[in-house]
Amino acid sequence: MKSKLIAPPLFLCLFSLIISIAFYCFQLNSWNLEQPSSTRFFQQSFKASISQYEYLPALLASDDNVQNSLINQNKHQDSDQDNLNRQLQFVANRSGASAVYLMNRTGKVLAASNFDQNGSFLHQNYSFRPYFKNAIEKKIRQFYYAIGATTGIPGFFISEPVLNIEGNVIGVIVVKLDLREWEESWRDAGQNILVASQNNVIILSGKEQWRYKSVGPLSEQLQFSMLKQQQFGKTRISSLFQKTYELARYLNLSLSFWIIDDEAYLVNSFPITDTRWNLYYLEKNSRFTQNAFIFFVIFLGALSLGYLYYRERQSKLLSRKQAADDELRHSRELETIIDKIQIGVVSINQQGNILFLNDAARGLLQLDTLTEKHPPVPIQSVLDMRMIAPFESYLLQSSDVMVPFHETTVLSQNQQSTPVMFAISQANIENDTRLLVTLINIEKRQKAEQAVIKLNESLEEQVEHRTQALRDAQAVMVQQSKAAALGQMAATVVHELSQPLSAMNSSITAAQLKVNKDDWTGAVRSISRLAPLSEKMNNVIKLLKYFSYEDGEDIQRQDLALLIKQSINLYQDKLKEKKVNINLENLQSLVTVKINPLKLDLVLTNIIQNAIDAMQQCEQPVITIAMVSLYNKAIITIEDQGDGINSRVMGQLFDPYFTTKDIGKGLGLGLSICYEIIQEYHGSIVAENRPQGARFTITLPLDID
Ligand code: ADP
Repeated sequence: MKSKLIAPPLFLCLFSLIISIAFYCFQLNSWNLEQPSSTRFFQQSFKASISQYEYLPALLASDDNVQNSLINQNKHQDSDQDNLNRQLQFVANRSGASAVYLMNRTGKVLAASNFDQNGSFLHQNYSFRPYFKNAIEKKIRQFYYAIGATTGIPGFFISEPVLNIEGNVIGVIVVKLDLREWEESWRDAGQNILVASQNNVIILSGKEQWRYKSVGPLSEQLQFSMLKQQQFGKTRISSLFQKTYELARYLNLSLSFWIIDDEAYLVNSFPITDTRWNLYYLEKNSRFTQNAFIFFVIFLGALSLGYLYYRERQSKLLSRKQAADDELRHSRELETIIDKIQIGVVSINQQGNILFLNDAARGLLQLDTLTEKHPPVPIQSVLDMRMIAPFESYLLQSSDVMVPFHETTVLSQNQQSTPVMFAISQANIENDTRLLVTLINIEKRQKAEQAVIKLNESLEEQVEHRTQALRDAQAVMVQQSKAAALGQMAATVVHELSQPLSAMNSSITAAQLKVNKDDWTGAVRSISRLAPLSEKMNNVIKLLKYFSYEDGEDIQRQDLALLIKQSINLYQDKLKEKKVNINLENLQSLVTVKINPLKLDLVLTNIIQNAIDAMQQCEQPVITIAMVSLYNKAIITIEDQGDGINSRVMGQLFDPYFTTKDIGKGLGLGLSICYEIIQEYHGSIVAENRPQGARFTITLPLDID
């Protein structure tokens, strides 16, 4: 990852560096190519400037005045001397030579063009100069370069032996040329050009400080000889450069590197024809390296920009390609989904012709052979569209078409019809309006529905049948219940009536005995006991009246506390038998209600009986009966200490015939009668469980008129 980030910039730098090096070499090469033509021009000009003086010494050597001056040098004649000086001065001036002078065989200057100047050569002796020595030896046209021994001005010397008639050398005539003009022209042009002599000593240079330095090896002997000739004055020649490298070794260029004063120069050299001198071109290497560096920066910048642009483009192309790929994948996925979905999808054009079908639709419509070449198949020919009336109008509609699901049949090619559910929706695909018909095969569903209908029918029959059986059973049970109730009631009646009846019998027997004994007082006492007994019997009969559905009893204002107490009294025997204690709370206050006391008694005794039944397992069963009046209502609560009401049966307590007791012990009518009675007096009865036992709360409207 890291290398991926570093590699491209590194490569760009490297590439730019290589190109910049190539550019650098190209510069060297083009600079190198410039020199041959410059050299040619220089050589021609240089040669031309020398050659115009080349024959001047020879001409002067044959001059009579020169000859005479040498021949007659001992016969000193000032006027002749002066004439020759002036003649030489004239020649020098007209030819442009720096100096023209004549030496005798000893090397002494007899006449000189600069006779009238400071540092004149006149009377000087230049016998040590090679050009003199050579000329004395009859060598004609001797060229020599040296610093003027007298003037210190460097110059180019052309010497010619002066021969007498016999052909003997009698003197030497010399023309000195000042070549410093060249240096000036190089300086003006800002060129680093120099000329070195055959001894590798720089004799001409645009830079003065480089002059008389060596550009090649200099032997000690040569050094000595040059000092002797004072060719370059009286100082030793030192090397121009600190170091030198031959570039030809690295590049195919005949260039050298010179390090001069810690500055690198590129050097190209050419021999100057007809001389043994060399012409050197120098150029600061920094010029090329600077250019190469600027080139490197610009090239790298351009390359980087190009690279960034390329990267950007690539990433754009990549993301575009990725998006296109994603889209293609999605559309393929979608196609597969549409093909594999168990719902038939058919696309039709606005003329109603099928354009596309998925696999499910193909199977459903049995249009496996539908291809593009196939003649258009109108949807109506395979799908019964009569359900949508008129279907054609949908096809022509330009607005959104949405047809909710309809049920119809598909006609396959073998005329087999399959029930389907279909819907039509509109889809705009590439500016073309298509209608999508969605088909669901509902054959199985229809079959299942029919099966369900059949099942329902048979179930209903069964339910009817069972209900009837239940009703019959219920009727039997009601009959049985009634019989049982009647039996129990009869037992109660027998129990309730037999006790006062036997008491009455004993009282009557006792009264008879007293009458027989004429004990009338005792007889009256016995008879007086009959009244409450008959009262009690009357009460029992009154209760029985409820079951005989005889209404019309007096609904009078009743003292509720009193009624409760009476009911308990009536039940006292049973309570005693079951050892149940009755705890009465707040029964002193006067609370009046309008109610049939017999019915209230029935309610209370039913609830008390249930409480006794619930407390069968209790060691000390207690029933607490309390009464309060609140907001125009009298509230009676009856609490026991039994196991409480089973929460599962709480909702059915007041239903008739609902009982949890064993057969024969309960009829399930008690609470339902209680409910009915309390309802009758616009009150309410509620059952609930306490932490220990059950509580029944009866609410009755107060009679406060
Ligand atoms: P029965 O007493 O003949 O069963 P009821 O209508 O009087 O009929 O009572 C219906 C049922 O209510 C009883 O079978 C019993 O399960 C329940 N029940 C009534 N009172 C109590 C009570 N105090 N504690 C627990 N359960 C009771």
